[in-house]
Amino acid sequence: MGILPFVAELGLIDHHCHGVSRTDSTREEFESLLLEADGVSPLGGSFFDSAIGFAVRRWCAPLLDLPRHASAEAYLERRNSLHITEVSRTFLMASGIHTFLVDGGFQPERLLSGAELASLAGADSHEIVRLEHLAQELSAAASAAEFVHELRARLRSASVVGAKSVAAYRTGLAISGERPSEAEALRSISSGPVKDPVMISWLAWEAMDAGLPLQFHVGYGDSDIDLHRCDPSLLTPFLRATAGLGVPVLLLHNYPFHRQAGYLAQVFPHVFCDLGLATHGLGHQASRVFAEALEIVPYGKFLFSSDAFGLPELYYLGALLFRQALSDFLADGLRRDAFLEEDAHRIARLIASENAARVYKL
Ligand SMILES: [Zn+2]
Repeated sequence: MGILPFVAELGLIDHHCHGVSRTDSTREEFESLLLEADGVSPLGGSFFDSAIGFAVRRWCAPLLDLPRHASAEAYLERRNSLHITEVSRTFLMASGIHTFLVDGGFQPERLLSGAELASLAGADSHEIVRLEHLAQELSAAASAAEFVHELRARLRSASVVGAKSVAAYRTGLAISGERPSEAEALRSISSGPVKDPVMISWLAWEAMDAGLPLQFHVGYGDSDIDLHRCDPSLLTPFLRATAGLGVPVLLLHNYPFHRQAGYLAQVFPHVFCDLGLATHGLGHQASRVFAEALEIVPYGKFLFSSDAFGLPELYYLGALLFRQALSDFLADGLRRDAFLEEDAHRIARLIASENAARVYKL
């Protein structure tokens, strides 16, 4: 099925992404970036034999002037014969994303900055500050008082439009509904990665004090995650405690807990969700899971994100498969007379950019 014209033409705000690699990728790097996997093992064969691998061959090959379904070898050979900047520009421009909200706190040395990404794509970018990364950076501060002062200043700097917590990677999402005391949190300052649950919880509250929309990594990611601790329903006490603050909380990716996330977005006034990473990871199955993610969530509470990291192809596929899935969802609703054409247009605009613009005050 083709993409409805008004969905194909939507400008997108990508409310969660990371930046593209500065350099070419070897086949092994390319394959492991496709799946956020630790590495390719001969035991399991090539990652091109996956939903996303086939999506690259089907959809990305034509943008590099190759036939649809070009082989993995032909694709990578062609890709490496071009300058990486050209490859990145091609895919970023084709994505139709006009604004990137970039979490630059993971492996920043490998990736273009938000500003570089935006100038390559002829787009805008804004910064999402990664709380645990910021706390680690500031851990060299002379005193606890200076740490707090610096942290608060950074959370309030003009370029920052949101904060992100990777509690899921460090302690899991079972964050207490009780706000920890500052003294208790500051006792755990150390130079290594922030893993202390009290500090992680305190940072989340600090971000909300600053009025920053707060993103949580939820659901799947790489092998550092204990998936059973990443179910968003574990956040319920925290969500209940913060519901009255008027500060948005955004549940990222969520797969395979996308139905739980939709439920939380339905019942809590400040909760929003997306299906980033999964949208392109699911390849030709994206429409089915996207429809599940939208089963009960109010349409004013669902956002587009790519969660692209490293490969510019992931921005393009994230946007393309999102459009395909959204189009299928709306076409199905129109066919069933669930809503009018003008409603379908409005729902599309909300999810593509208007919800993000409202939540992040862009
Ligand atoms: Zn991410």
